[in-house]
Amino acid sequence: MFYNLVPAELQNDFDALLNDLSYLPEQAKESCPFCHHIDFQKIRQKPLTFRCKCCHKYFNPLTKTPFNRLVPTIWLGLILTRRIEKATLETLAYELNCTPEMVKRRERALIDYMQQHYPKFHQWYTQTRLHENNMLPTTIKQQYVDLSKIIVQLLTIEKFPCAYCQSSNTVRIGQRAGFRCRSCRKTFNILKDTPLNKIPHAELWKSFIELLVKNNTNKSIAQTLELSLNTVSKWRKVWCELMQNWGYEELAVWCNKKQ
Ligand SMILES: [Zn+2]
Ligand SMILES: [Zn+2]
Repeated sequence: MFYNLVPAELQNDFDALLNDLSYLPEQAKESCPFCHHIDFQKIRQKPLTFRCKCCHKYFNPLTKTPFNRLVPTIWLGLILTRRIEKATLETLAYELNCTPEMVKRRERALIDYMQQHYPKFHQWYTQTRLHENNMLPTTIKQQYVDLSKIIVQLLTIEKFPCAYCQSSNTVRIGQRAGFRCRSCRKTFNILKDTPLNKIPHAELWKSFIELLVKNNTNKSIAQTLELSLNTVSKWRKVWCELMQNWGYEELAVWCNKKQ
């Protein structure tokens, strides 16, 4: 899942970064991280510890890296991928049974490491990912475009077979996908049995989704569209459910950021 949330042009960096995170803690250094002397000996296997024969300092594979002493190291890759999935620090603290500060310290170390080794990925992770639309991950962008098309179609489709007699002689009435059948004279609404029926103000749907995709908080969406916080949180839930049901799973995760 998280894999699709990274832009295509950054996936090689992402692979390499995840690879680093799993091998770094095991990999012996080439030289002493303090004096760069290459003569050192292994002192312990668990945890892997070395001692320099020149400066006599002890070190391990993570000494002098941003991840020094951030055990267990298995958390690092986990935090990275869950943050890409938009898990909050609090959610992660809960999942890992630690404090949000511990998660934050590890994320800061990850960001330092990205900056040193994967500058483009670092830029995406720290800025673009959070604020802009123009570098949305490929999958998210595609699903967003597809969903927008469906919404426009739902709101503008002129003909729809009658729900009662299947006649195609129907006419659209009102904004919310309502129709009147000219054959049996009944009216029907194509959204009736869908979760969309719970969301009024069809004219706001497109802007609402756009704000979701751009990762606005409930508070800022409420201000922009002049809705109550309660309404925004309800709508977010319904839309994310719909995205999930319609097969836009990644988009649903992307838009379902905890508020
Ligand atoms: Zn040394
Ligand atoms: Zn009819």
